[in-house]
Order: sequence, then structure tokens, then C-alpha cells
Amino acid sequence: MALSNHDLRQLDEEVIDSLPVDGVKNLAKILLLDLKEARERLNQNSQNSSRPPSSEAPWDKASGHSNDDTDEPTESDKPEPATEEEALKEALQADGTDISNEDLPEENATALTSAIPQEIPAVKPPIEKPVRNPGKQPGAKGFGRTQIIPIHQYQDHHPTKCACCSRPFSEAEIENSKAYTAFDSLGLKWANTEKPGIEVINTRHTYYQIDCSCGHNTRAVPFRHPPDMELPGIELSEWRLVDATLASFIVCLSLRLRLSRVRIREFLHDWLGITLSVGTINKTIHESGRAVMPVEPILIEEALKSGLLHIDETSWPQKEKLLWLWAFVSTTVVLFKVSRRTAEVFQSLIIKNVYPGWIMTDGYQVYREHIKRLRCWAHLIRKARGLEEALNSEAQDFGEKSLFLLNSLIAAIKQAREAPPDQALSIIYQEQLEEYRRLCEKMRLSEHKKTHQLAVEMLNDWTVIFTILDHPHLPLTNNEAERALRHWVILRKICYGTRTAEGSRVFAILASVIETCRIRQCSPWRYLAEVIASRRAGLSVHQLPVCGSGV
Ligand SMILES: [Zn+2]
Repeated sequence: MALSNHDLRQLDEEVIDSLPVDGVKNLAKILLLDLKEARERLNQNSQNSSRPPSSEAPWDKASGHSNDDTDEPTESDKPEPATEEEALKEALQADGTDISNEDLPEENATALTSAIPQEIPAVKPPIEKPVRNPGKQPGAKGFGRTQIIPIHQYQDHHPTKCACCSRPFSEAEIENSKAYTAFDSLGLKWANTEKPGIEVINTRHTYYQIDCSCGHNTRAVPFRHPPDMELPGIELSEWRLVDATLASFIVCLSLRLRLSRVRIREFLHDWLGITLSVGTINKTIHESGRAVMPVEPILIEEALKSGLLHIDETSWPQKEKLLWLWAFVSTTVVLFKVSRRTAEVFQSLIIKNVYPGWIMTDGYQVYREHIKRLRCWAHLIRKARGLEEALNSEAQDFGEKSLFLLNSLIAAIKQAREAPPDQALSIIYQEQLEEYRRLCEKMRLSEHKKTHQLAVEMLNDWTVIFTILDHPHLPLTNNEAERALRHWVILRKICYGTRTAEGSRVFAILASVIETCRIRQCSPWRYLAEVIASRRAGLSVHQLPVCGSGV
């Protein structure tokens, strides 16, 4: 949006008549751009659009989206518009860059009132309030707002050119510009070995306005993203009490150190002297997830380029729904997805994209759609060991023989990795394999349940299980994927999964970015802070860090 509501309110026929030809031309171009953008957005938001139901507009959603994942219920932050017309109005307002005090997130609105210099007149357009939701209302005194932290640094934001006639402002004009609003933002200074410790920095951002010679008043405004159709309850803007570094820190406390929102609040209060509400902490984590969302296609692209993907899945509750957390792990990318149906993610990522590489999986049937597949031998060995320890003599015998073959083959594979044999291992071990296959055929008829099951599993997936003999350089186990999931399985036990679809989306992308940075031996937190800062300002995401760069 080139023109904010503040700009538009000043424009009328009289202003256009008063402008020189060049000024009118410039203004017409800006208006045309805005009109096209507004039309496109209207189409997107229409109920008759071709968008899937999952992307329904924010005003069609039930309230309370921002409350998932919290350890205790928090207030919903915005009343839902009562009519479609109101909803459209609100959507356009949200898209615009006009920020009055009433638009502010409640947690830093107090900071603003103390931040506005006395002589600035309050420029607040009257906003009609639709029907309110129960609970705490926007503008009400909030938990995090009672705290007054001294200002450590100032950052001024000036407009650089007239929003109406496009004339660039001179240095003198910028110097004489008037402040019209401000907010405070809490951040952290990155520590290093020379200066360890956590230092909190409070920055006052002041926004200025300039009266142009053409008569237009132009304001610098903090960037604010239009609502995301996939994450309608999550705002992304520069106007934030929690800056990008503190947001990254909170994500670390939540996802890496597995602290609940309540514990994060306690920690920030007790150790950093920062008072934030559970709702603000939750919003910060969700906003961070929305900020890094554009990294997902990059991760998918890089994962699909790899020659081998380890894949595994584990259950993941989303409130009362039982979903699945999937992990796709290459040497440079870890991608997590939370999926409603068991096969959905695998098919959309691997089958539809015609992934050309190998996949390493367990015996789950969905994986059989992909031909270049490897089976994790650790699972088979565990099952064979179980039979070996069984009380049934037939099972014991089958377990022993299975273990003996698998162990001999593992030794041969390891040797082949160092010195490739003249013939493929499948030919060298042909006789033993045929003998074992006959044993499996026999054991398939066993009345001992586990014996029958292992024999059937071996026979059903025979080619895949022994593919490794022709490609000994490939891995024998799915340890990479299992290890990638382990951390989140512990988190699941602590927090019982996520609460909403938005919460699951945000969790999966943050987990993906964190683990990808870690596998690349880079700091996830610096990268996350950079991406959050860029995206809040309306810029594109940074490239993923290169392996081993350390940054
Ligand atoms: Zn002007």
C-alpha cells in the first residue's frame, strides 16, 4: 500500500485541482497501484473465491486463535466484525499503514502514552467499535504495561518523500519534522565470550510527519503485513514491544529449552527484569512462526535436492485430534510437518514432487509408494532379538538365525564401504539369502505371533530390506530421523502437543528452522532474529545459513 488511510483522508478533488501536472501524474500512478492492490485483495477475501476452506478469512473464523499453546487461557485481542462490510473495512484498515493508538497491540500501548512528547496533539480518527468479545478489551490496562523501563537508545523514523506529489524531502525538512507517535521495544544484546551475560535494551522508536509544500501531510509509519490467509489470527508488524532478538530468545526458551509460557514469563521476570503476559509470549512465538514461514519452500526445495531422505513420524496431539509429526531429514535440512491424515504429508512431498532420491523409513505401508526405498535394520534387529529371547523354541531359532544373517551382512556392508568387493554383496550372499528366504516362508505359517509377523515383514519387503547389499554406501538405520524427532517427543510429553491448526503450523516451521540451523552448525537464534526483523519490516527472508559458517 503506497497511501495510508491518513494520506487518503487528506486527498480530495480540491487537492488534485491544486497540484501541478507532474504532481497529478505521480499521484495518479500511486492511486492506480493502490487500486489494483486493493482489488486483488478484495478478490482474495471474497467468499466466492477458489481458495480452499482452510484459508477462510479471519472474520469467518471463530475467535480465540491466538490462545493455542498457552498454558493458561489468555484474552482474545480483537473483536470480530459483525457484518461483511465491517470485516472488509477492518481488513483494509489492517492492510493500511495508518496506525492510531487504538490499533496498537495492547501490551505496548501504555509504553506509547508515556512515549508521546507532550506537545504532540493526539491524532486519533474516531473508530467505530463493533460488538465486543468477552474478556479483556483492546486498550484495557494490560499485565505487561505496568512496567516502566528506562530508554537506552532512540531510533527516529522520518518520511523520505511526499506521499502525494512524490517530492523527496530535503534534509532541512526532515530535521524540522514533527513527531506524532512512538513506541518502546525491548531487545537483547548478543553476548560473546569477551562480554558474556544478557543485556536488555529498551529502544524508543519515534515516528515523524512532514507538511509538504503541496499541502499534503506525510507520515513515516511502522510496516504492518496484511492478514495471512493461512494464519489469520497472527499479526506481523514492526510495531512490537518484543523486538526480534527478544522474540528469538523466547522461541529458544519455548522450543529448545521446552519451557511452558508460564515458566518463560517467570524466567523473564525473575532473571531479566522483563514483565510480559503469557498472551504476549504466546503471540511472540506465533508471530515468529509466521515470520519464518517463507523459509518452508526453501527447506522443501533443498530437501528434494538431496540424494537421501530419512523419514519418520510420531503421534502429535492437536487438542483432541490425534495428528502426526513427520520428520524429513537430509544431511543439510530437517523439515517437520504436522499432518491431519497419516499419508497426506508423505504423498504431497515425496510422491507428488516425484522425489528422485532414496528414502530411509520403517515398515509403514504408506512408504511403499516410493520405489527407491531403504528399510531401517535397527527395527529388524530389535524384532529378531525379541524372538531370540522368546520362550518358544521355534521363535528362538528363527530369532537366532535372523540375527546371525543380519549381523554377518552388517559386517560385510561395513567392509564393503572401505574396500568395495569385486561382486555385489547380494551375489556373494545369494546362497545364505535363499536359505533364509525359505526359512521365512516356513515361519510365515508359524502359530507364534511374533515369529509369523517378522517372517511376513521380511517377505513383504524383501527387495527393499536387502537393497543395501547392492548399495553398501547407503545407511543401515533411520537413526537420523529418529534422533530429529526425539527432542520433540519430550516436548510433546511436557506440553501435550498443540491446540490449533495455526499453532501446529507455527510449531512445525519453527522446529524445522531450528533443527536445520543446528544440523548446519549455525546459530538458529541469530538467524531467527534476522528473519523476524526483516519480515516485520516487509523485507524478504534471509538465505539459510551455510553449513559450518557458525553464524
Ligand atoms: Zn507533496
